[in-house]
Amino acid sequence: MSASTARKIVAETATTYQNLIGGKWQPASDGRTVDMVSPSDGLAFAKIARGTKADVDAAVKAARHAFEEGAWSKLTAVERGRLMTKLGEAILANHEELSQLEARDCGKPMKQARADITAAARYFEYYGGAADKVHGDTIPFLDGYMVTIMREPKGVTGHIIPWNYPAQMFGRSLAPALAMGNAVVMKPAEDACVAPLRMAQLAQEVGFPDGALNVVTGIGEEAGAALAAHPGIDFMSFTGSPEVGTLVQKAAAENHIGCTLELGGKSPQIVFEDADFDAVVPVVVNAIVQNGGQTCSAGSRVLVQKSIYDKFVALVVARFKLLRVGSHAMDLDCGPLISENQRKRVHGFIDRAKKDGIPVLAEAQLADGVPSGGFYVAPVLFGPVPRNNSLACDEVFGPVLSIIPFEDEADAVKLANATEFGLVAGIWTRDGGRQMRVAKKMRCGQVFVNGYGAGGGIELPFGGVKKSGHGREKGFEALKEFSHTKTIVFKHG
Ligand code: NAD
Repeated sequence: MSASTARKIVAETATTYQNLIGGKWQPASDGRTVDMVSPSDGLAFAKIARGTKADVDAAVKAARHAFEEGAWSKLTAVERGRLMTKLGEAILANHEELSQLEARDCGKPMKQARADITAAARYFEYYGGAADKVHGDTIPFLDGYMVTIMREPKGVTGHIIPWNYPAQMFGRSLAPALAMGNAVVMKPAEDACVAPLRMAQLAQEVGFPDGALNVVTGIGEEAGAALAAHPGIDFMSFTGSPEVGTLVQKAAAENHIGCTLELGGKSPQIVFEDADFDAVVPVVVNAIVQNGGQTCSAGSRVLVQKSIYDKFVALVVARFKLLRVGSHAMDLDCGPLISENQRKRVHGFIDRAKKDGIPVLAEAQLADGVPSGGFYVAPVLFGPVPRNNSLACDEVFGPVLSIIPFEDEADAVKLANATEFGLVAGIWTRDGGRQMRVAKKMRCGQVFVNGYGAGGGIELPFGGVKKSGHGREKGFEALKEFSHTKTIVFKHG
């Protein structure tokens, strides 16, 4: 069957997903749609609504109603927590279906998609349990006074998420906001958003009141920009590129609201000469091929002490050569990238690095039987990468690993902190004193010592400094972002 025939058949049979606004599934106000393409073969398999400014406005109004007077506003924290726990259970009960949706939508290997759906459920379990555990405080004040500090929801929160982990991001962004009692409006990414739509349906099925959770799909510059700029939003949570993050922050400033920005990174893994090589090598390789390198916290720079450079690099090269790349269904080490645009962008980095004369230490191969038309890029290992080269400084967002040598501890710290980003760092050494000294000096939001958890750990506060953004997600920190304090002063005489 030719690609054009396949495209025609799929277009005719494709599922069409709608927006969820105020408890009703509805098409875009002007009826337009966007084709959803599977990165594994480049074929459209579904359509989503191309949400408009009017759709966003309706969703924000529905959320406002739910927050101020609807059934959602009347739930106690315990009841909210129960609903969220039920949603976590529903996600687990539909685990395989959601995993298949996520894998086809993103091109990610099935095992990654399955892990992502488990994590999405976990966000609702964790924050469901936390909903009734956010306490206030009292403050000793003047004689004759009693002062209490309450923690309240922000109101209507906006959530713009990217395409790399749609299912996980649905949980990561929405669960803490809902736990605090906010009503939410989400704009998922146009490149991948089918699993979040199915999870929104599950939220309805388990009994979330109308308007508590709204989803408007569509194009970033249209529905995304409309949501970011909407005057009815009380707080905005954004994950994506630094460029769009700047626009979202400017829109938030115009409306005098706060926002969290999670904008990616160029995260280093520092390998000292006393590291346990057997433990390090598989982790540093996995940290760049996981999700095709399209992970904000991908370990994209490996900094290696000069005294062990040749020996260590030989082990990484051997491991890299074993990597296998294929479609989501083939379920190998690495899938395709999300889109043709992303494939071209990543190839641009690879071609420029080759032109700059940076040695290619290893290049993985596509497996036999990879479908034509997919957006594949074979992982590439470069080294030694000069410190001022783009590969050492810029976020590639693809399976490209840069190895950079360093002299000693002071040099390692300087090099690790030398990019504009600051999201995660890994430190590999058996020396306890060095572990603590270096961890304290890292300018980033998360540090792993003798391990690396790209994207992992729902309980662990996560977020960046510098161009990686600001604000914290995950853990109890996220509950603080989606709430504010109110001070009540009682004069009792
Ligand atoms: P993006 O920032 O363009 O898209 C992220 C989200 O923002 C999507 O939902 C998109 O629809 C929305 N959006 C786009 N333009 C908007 C606008 N003007 N106003 C409001 N919302 C808008 O990211 P991308 O194009 O999908 O990816 C580009 C690069 O961003 C990647 O190569 C990568 O470097 C980075 N990225 C980072 C992360 C991360 O987790 N930090 C995730 C995805 C992409």
